Amino acid sequence: MAKELSKRQINIPVDDIPRQFYNITADFPDPMPAPKDPESGPSRLANLGKIFTSACLGHEMAQERFIDIPDEVLELFIKSGRPRPLFRAYELEKELGTPAKLYYKSEFYSPTGSHKVNTAIVQAYFAKQEGFTTMTTETGAGQWGTALAYACSLVGLKCKVFWVRAAYNWKPDRLAMMKLLGAEVHASPSPQTDAGREIYLKDPEHPGSLAIAISEGIETALKDEKAVYSLGSVLNHVLLHQTIIGLETKKQLALIGEYPDTIISCLGGGSNFGGLSIPFFGDVLRGEAEKEIKFIAAQSQSAPNLQGEYKYDFGDYAETTPLLKMFSLGHKSKFPPIKGDGLRYHASAPIISYLRNKGMVDTIAYPVNEKEVFEAAAVFVRTEGFLPAPESAYSVKAAIDEALKCKKNREDKTILFNISGHGFLDLAGYKDVLKIA
Ligand SMILES: *Cc1c(COP(=O)(O)O)cnc(C)c1O
Repeated sequence: MAKELSKRQINIPVDDIPRQFYNITADFPDPMPAPKDPESGPSRLANLGKIFTSACLGHEMAQERFIDIPDEVLELFIKSGRPRPLFRAYELEKELGTPAKLYYKSEFYSPTGSHKVNTAIVQAYFAKQEGFTTMTTETGAGQWGTALAYACSLVGLKCKVFWVRAAYNWKPDRLAMMKLLGAEVHASPSPQTDAGREIYLKDPEHPGSLAIAISEGIETALKDEKAVYSLGSVLNHVLLHQTIIGLETKKQLALIGEYPDTIISCLGGGSNFGGLSIPFFGDVLRGEAEKEIKFIAAQSQSAPNLQGEYKYDFGDYAETTPLLKMFSLGHKSKFPPIKGDGLRYHASAPIISYLRNKGMVDTIAYPVNEKEVFEAAAVFVRTEGFLPAPESAYSVKAAIDEALKCKKNREDKTILFNISGHGFLDLAGYKDVLKIA
């Protein structure tokens, strides 16, 4: 009996938390295309040194396969509830009538509601170490701003968040959470910066955009030598920090003698998909994988960036970042709004794009009305009890689709998926799409 219980919720002891991040670029068979400057205009590469911490820049370009996690960061990880349990979805399997074994990682246990706290903690720790007093950033859906506000409050830094006004206006609860954590939050465009002021003065109700908010965050960091800027997805250092998800999961699966046939997560910029899957991609690259793994990124037809073109593109609309080699739909593209707003980004991380270009990443994109995605999440809530974030609902939908394929083909595959966050601050989205009271 006790044995069965520990197959339901798989935990590693706190002292077994991974002590190093895994840098997959060390195992790439050929070098990843480097970031570069556009042919005209100021050097974006030169700007990087002025806006990020040296530690993050070091991680961005690291060559070594493993990078030690400082003890203080381990303490913060543990304080934030790591290691996070891996669950076997017995009830969901039963409901679907599938012979597949479904396992999900519980990033929804994050204090602010998403996996983004993992990199926020690392970035805030190093900012404090390097003598900065303030971190600045932008946020779209709000998960990243909340995660950074949390991390800054833990280490004793000021946090300034520029939040796209459209989302700021309709998410008062998330705003309250950021303020509770002590953050200074500005609806963007704001009168605080040159980038925002002109637009703001013309139209104080301007809905804003990520591009404007990014410019405001960067400008604020550049104007204050004690302030540093921070990003929550896409870049190599962010994915590096997120490998804590997959490294824990590997240990958890090893405890019960399992290894995945299929690994699934939702993908916007690639940080939670990468976080879970990169340690397993590493197994494949080094010829150490116990099985042939199928990796599936779940996306929206609003912004199916993995179906774009593999090319050099800017990371943002305003062209403030260097050019990165990514699968991209084009940095000037506009995407229809969806509740899973975190999946509405024009390109996927250079690391994920490199793997996709090698033919190692499959992808599926679900319709913009999100009906089937939210219905899948509802099945998950009724069987497993946890409410996924709208983005994570895509991961659930893809896992259910794969489990149903196994049912049809009578295959007992082991399917691993990530639930990147909880949806308690996104119930309005569920109400809209599922037409519930
Ligand atoms: C931001 C976010 C995502 C999408 O970003 P990735 O970098 O692709 O992980 C997914 N899920 C949640 C809960 C998020 O907050």
